[in-house]
Amino acid sequence: MFDSLSDRLGGILDRLKKRGALSEADVGEAMREVRRALIEADVALDVVRSFTDKVRTRAVGAEVVKSVTPGQMVVKIVHDELIAMLGSDAKPIDLEAAPPVPVLMVGLQGSGKTTSTAKIAKRLKDRVGRKVLMASLDTRRPAAMEQLATLGKQVGVETLPIVAGQSAVQIARRAMEAARLGGFDVVMLDTAGRVTLDEALMAEVAEVKAATGPHEVLLVADSLTGQDAVNTAKAFDERVGLTGIVLTRADGDGRGGAALSMRAVTGKPIKLIGTGEKMDALEDFDPRRVAGRILGMGDVVSLVEKAVENIDAEKAMAAAERMRKGNFDLDDLRMQLDQMEKLGGLGGLMGMLPGIGKLKNQMANANLDDKVIRRQKAVIDSMTKKERRNPKLLDASRRKRIAAGSGTKVEDVNKLMKMHRQMADMMKAMGASAGGKRGGPMAG
Ligand code: GDP
Repeated sequence: MFDSLSDRLGGILDRLKKRGALSEADVGEAMREVRRALIEADVALDVVRSFTDKVRTRAVGAEVVKSVTPGQMVVKIVHDELIAMLGSDAKPIDLEAAPPVPVLMVGLQGSGKTTSTAKIAKRLKDRVGRKVLMASLDTRRPAAMEQLATLGKQVGVETLPIVAGQSAVQIARRAMEAARLGGFDVVMLDTAGRVTLDEALMAEVAEVKAATGPHEVLLVADSLTGQDAVNTAKAFDERVGLTGIVLTRADGDGRGGAALSMRAVTGKPIKLIGTGEKMDALEDFDPRRVAGRILGMGDVVSLVEKAVENIDAEKAMAAAERMRKGNFDLDDLRMQLDQMEKLGGLGGLMGMLPGIGKLKNQMANANLDDKVIRRQKAVIDSMTKKERRNPKLLDASRRKRIAAGSGTKVEDVNKLMKMHRQMADMMKAMGASAGGKRGGPMAG
């Protein structure tokens, strides 16, 4: 989401860092460039102005004059002000209330509201062991109710049985009652959405809010809609009152403007961001980490967290052991590809490592992206068990069959085989030099 802004700011600040001394004019010029970069990223104009003003004032002040490396200092100021703009501290969902705690989900249709409801329910169940009940209040769209029920089954969270003919408020009351009787900790209320903001929608949401007294009112907004997302949040906050924002489609190619302006314009924190369609594609929004990522300072913390969550340590150890012995087969390669994909593909992984921006661009040029990973997995999936264990079996006719089976070209199969051979050789060499040490090059 922040890629192009990150590139722009990185360039501007790099140039600044190289300078020995900085005049007021230098800072002014850099701030004009920063301003342009933020506007192009679709950040609200008021927010841009106040941001560059603050940075300029601090940068031309005594702080910089006294510091040894003025350029570095400016970078630090930009970093600090970026964090302030994003809201300083991460604000997780607050469930500190007597159970069952109602959480109201609001937003426009298509923003990802139902998906986010299920993602949050799953997270509360998995991470903090809460017993969650979900209820859809979308009385006009039976499909929306069914969608929530389906997602509930998928993530192992109960949904309130559908009773035809009830109003949104009646369903909400029934959900609270069922939660009380059933000993649930949290009730997620997925309100109806509309394609556009209208008074009927607002009135219904306000009514449900009054009836249930939710502890959190979360607006789900689509980051791809840029400033519209911010305006939607403002409108909902003024009419019903919000406690936070869930910003979806952060995995898309939005310019970042919604994420960057949301807090400053609405005063409400972004609590979570949706990063994909899968049920675990949800991340905490931590201003410090986001600022670090934008300025290319890396994000080792979230990388480590993600790795711990997603990687099956035992499997990885077993694979590493086989690799060390030089028995790296195609099943092992497939597992490696799986893990790469889980870590958000090479793209996601790279963005989190410090100083890796340039390398990431090179990788993108080499086309080692998620699509390639998926294609490679498809190739492996079209092989028989025997072939995966013993790649030597793969003669021309087998390769042709595999290409046809996986919807790829023989060329793709050949490339994968070459990659496998190179990795196997490399691992064998590393394994041999590592002697009998535990683990291996990819033990993680
Ligand atoms: P609702 O009408 O607001 O309830 O929207 P849905 O929850 O039905 O979501 C609409 C579509 O957006 C679905 O296809 C979701 O899978 C997709 N979606 C939701 N959140 C995200 C996200 O963070 N990233 C991506 N790529 N897709 C998302």
